[in-house]
Amino acid sequence: MPRTALTMRVLVVGGGAREHAIVSALARSSAEVYACLKNRNPGICRTAKVFELIDETNVPKVVDFAKKSGVELAIIGPEAPLEAGLSDGLRASGIPTSSPSRSAARIETSKSFMRDLLEKRKIKGAVKYALVNSMDELGPALARLGMEVVVKPVGLTGGKGVKVWGEHLTSVQDIEAYAKEILSNKIGGSASIVIEEKLVGEEITIQAFCDGKRVVPMPAVQDHKRAYEGDKGPNTGGMGSYSQSDGLLPFLKRSEYEAGVEIMSDVVKALRKEDAEYRGPLYGQFMLTREGPKVIEFNARFGDPEAMNVLSLLKGDFAKVCEGMASGKVPKNEAVFAPQASVCKYVVPEGYGTKSLAGEEIKVDEQGIAREGALLYYANVNEKDGRVYTTSSRSVGIVGISGSVEEAERIAEKGIGHISGRIHVRHDIAKKEMLDAKVRRMEMVRRGEL
Ligand code: AMP
Repeated sequence: MPRTALTMRVLVVGGGAREHAIVSALARSSAEVYACLKNRNPGICRTAKVFELIDETNVPKVVDFAKKSGVELAIIGPEAPLEAGLSDGLRASGIPTSSPSRSAARIETSKSFMRDLLEKRKIKGAVKYALVNSMDELGPALARLGMEVVVKPVGLTGGKGVKVWGEHLTSVQDIEAYAKEILSNKIGGSASIVIEEKLVGEEITIQAFCDGKRVVPMPAVQDHKRAYEGDKGPNTGGMGSYSQSDGLLPFLKRSEYEAGVEIMSDVVKALRKEDAEYRGPLYGQFMLTREGPKVIEFNARFGDPEAMNVLSLLKGDFAKVCEGMASGKVPKNEAVFAPQASVCKYVVPEGYGTKSLAGEEIKVDEQGIAREGALLYYANVNEKDGRVYTTSSRSVGIVGISGSVEEAERIAEKGIGHISGRIHVRHDIAKKEMLDAKVRRMEMVRRGEL
């Protein structure tokens, strides 16, 4: 798009499929994109006016690039640069930023801060929990909470540090061994653990555009974190996700969605009271239980893959939405979504979740994917001499959009048929059998049978 007086120069930080979706949504709107990323993502590098390969957590370098490029706005995709204080660095250089400060991002980067905030401000959706900083504190915590718990490092682990009773932990010895491992290896960056009651229900994601005061919600999405079909295997960053045309999910009632949005709104208000104004996309992950949505975690950014669902459906001008988050007033008339269903499936390297086959070439027939009507978002791959190579992380996100989840799923699958190599895909995600099983399961949860 030629730059006009109305075109804004926007910096996007990060090189995954979430950031490719951000870049695509900006490119469709009134923005000229500048990108900082650590891997050569072909989708981002091709769309950006200028890109630079940099360590995304190197605040001075990213700020230098932003200043040199004359960007007027910035948005940060992943959590690590938020924790490194990149938003603060950009704002200090006079660049409005649609991502939270390091202090506000503690809602994600510190699970103890998040749990303490919900408790202190009496926000709904809180769960019973205990903070454990030494093995001596573990016994009393388990005496209070019981054995049916979830054990999490306090800091960031890319969604992979959580162990759940009945799945990864089946005895008190398992809990002790994992607690010891977190404490001695400082998993997540510190010797601190959160032990939480185990919640039973269906997991849902609600994302919202936040401007410090208000939250403007996006359609609900369901992600699938387990590596293998049937929700088995290790937790991953997410294998695929879907959303429904009415913004709900097959087992989610509007009143429950609204209860989730209210929790998020209360969190944004609470952060303001803590002098940590939250500006940027906020991600709420909830367990839909018999008593309504309970908080599993918050992310201080879009979800990955959930960003691909919602941004593919966004009809408004995304640059204006981002500008509104940064300046303190999200334009509601721009935060509108097509009333369609979306299905995103991730293509990952063989072994992803345990030991990924990195550095392998994969073939991506972009035209074939486009012919099927599917959308393509490159993730953590590297392009070299026109070829695409895997890294240890996810490779490509393929999205189908249609009136029904069933049809969107078919489109996504047809798109995936144009990718080859030593790859793995969860074909079961968003298939009718799976959705029906979730509806049945949620009915059992509501009846108190699970
Ligand atoms: P997190 O990194 O906090 O999103 O956790 C990763 C996964 O662990 C979630 O997607 C859930 O499946 C599971 N999990 C986390 N916390 C709980 C909890 N309190 N009860 C049950 N499952 C949980």
